Amino acid sequence: YLVAPIGQLIQSLTQLQVAMAAITRIQEVTALDSEPETHGGPGRAGDRTPVGVRFDGVVFRYGEDRPVVHDRVSFEVAAGGMTALVGPSGAGKSTVFGLIERFYEPQAGTILVGGRDIREWPLGELRAALGYVEQDAPVLAGTFRENLVFGAPEATEEEIARALARTRLDGLVERLPSGLETLVGHRGVLLSGGERQRVAIARALLRRPSLLLLDEATSQLDAVNELRLREVVAEVARETTVLVIAHRLSTVTGADRIIVMEAGGVRASGTHEELVESDDLYRELAATQFLVSS
Ligand code: ADP
Ligand code: MG
Repeated sequence: YLVAPIGQLIQSLTQLQVAMAAITRIQEVTALDSEPETHGGPGRAGDRTPVGVRFDGVVFRYGEDRPVVHDRVSFEVAAGGMTALVGPSGAGKSTVFGLIERFYEPQAGTILVGGRDIREWPLGELRAALGYVEQDAPVLAGTFRENLVFGAPEATEEEIARALARTRLDGLVERLPSGLETLVGHRGVLLSGGERQRVAIARALLRRPSLLLLDEATSQLDAVNELRLREVVAEVARETTVLVIAHRLSTVTGADRIIVMEAGGVRASGTHEELVESDDLYRELAATQFLVSS
């Protein structure tokens, strides 16, 4: 007469496990709701442990049309270091960023961040691990400091100073009439395209991302700003994983790996030297940007 009670006990334990799993899910969803912003907004800070990314047979379409990302796209971005995405306009580079951030769900395939399927990451945690610097990022109306700590209100003076040095903005801040308290944007000091992009990178760094997604500004940069951006990206890649969409190949000739996208698929990948040898499209892009002779 022990058999029946033990059977009941086991059944109760199973029910308890199901209930516990449900509670965990509810907690995750509630945590999500209390997230201040989920669309590229502040959210929580990460812990800066570099993570890699893997696309496994990913297919994605925005609507009823043919897939934007097709061919079951697969590629891997190693943890730490710099990987670049290059290719013609409309190739799907920004869409790849949107998929990593889980703004969109692929119709097929799996995306892993830090070895973990992003569908298994609580969304708030995933977004906290990602830093996203959008193309032609605007400065916010307010002070230079407000522009930096938006998204990381707990940042210390030391962390701010470090982010400014990392992004080569320390000299600029020193020259501003009221330093960090100077108003910027249309009501204050106007910043150049290159400076705005570096402010956006500093802002992202203060959130301690494990993976920085950087959509390079399309605006023309003068030679000094272009060199600075290159230095900044190389330096940031020493402390976190950087995935950069490059419109200027000069930014990424030193990347650990370059992924060439074309029409929603991955066409080739390798180092700058390897791709100049092996890929016609890449060689053409490099030639039009005077990086190799045609
Ligand atoms: P890239 O960043 O390489 O220039 P995108 O990823 O922005 O390319 O775009 C890839 C394709 O997807 C393009 O044909 C573009 O028109 C289309 N596309 C981009 N965003 C959307 C959207 N929100 N809705 C529908 N189509 C889109
Ligand atoms: Mg784009």
